Amino acid sequence: QLDARLPASDIPELQRLGVSFNRMAASLEDVEQRRRELISDLTHELRTPLTVVRGYLEELADGEVEPSTEIYTRLARETRRLERLVNDLQELSKAEAGYLPINLQPVNLYPLLEALVEKFSDQILEDGPVLRLNCSPQLPPVLADIDRVEQVLVNLLGNAIRYTSQGAITIRAWTQSRKLWIAVSDTGIGIAKQNLPHVFERFWRADRSRDRHSGGTGIGLAISRRLVELQGGQIFVESELGKGSTFSFFLPLA
Ligand code: ADP
Repeated sequence: QLDARLPASDIPELQRLGVSFNRMAASLEDVEQRRRELISDLTHELRTPLTVVRGYLEELADGEVEPSTEIYTRLARETRRLERLVNDLQELSKAEAGYLPINLQPVNLYPLLEALVEKFSDQILEDGPVLRLNCSPQLPPVLADIDRVEQVLVNLLGNAIRYTSQGAITIRAWTQSRKLWIAVSDTGIGIAKQNLPHVFERFWRADRSRDRHSGGTGIGLAISRRLVELQGGQIFVESELGKGSTFSFFLPLA
């Protein structure tokens, strides 16, 4: 019926639309499936620390255990875990609602890079990777929101540390055609080639149980990409399984 009424030239166009519609539906289904997994993971992730915290508090209140540094350290660790989860969820819901205020100003990023290297070096275990900064202290200013750039770098460095047991994590920065590039490279587990197109998708994780165990939610890189793009930049990944990964992004010079 339809064919009879349409000019022949419109049919390939309609077929193309059909194919792209099917693709869209499949990708929405994927996101929906991952959202369901995320909620079930989050429920589990929230319940575990809550059970530990409640257990200790009840035992302390009943005098069943003596207060000790060990117990307080454990309580603090579980509370931090809860905090991280809540922060991730909050960022995600802001990003999804389109509410991520960006305040662009000319900023010099070198002091931020230095401060982050210092902060994250403290978090790496003694036999873990070394963290180094490899760039000139005279970086030209970029037009960016420094808090948002920090958020992106905290995500990238957090991942690099999480997925690298030894070797080095290197931050580099350089300018090229009116852009400042920043790259975070690691010598960690790497990402399989077929997975590279997915890493910036929300809720995507290479290995659901492993990455959940390491505190991952699959939200960080999706938010990072959005933040970089809102500042007029772009973010990229290169990686080789078992060898390491490099996440790089650029921002426009001021
Ligand atoms: P998560 O909170 O799970 O780390 P992200 O969005 O930050 O979420 O990352 C998504 C997934 O990409 C991770 O679960 C992990 O599988 C993979 N990934 C991210 N960064 C790295 C890295 N530096 N090395 C290896 N895999 C990584």
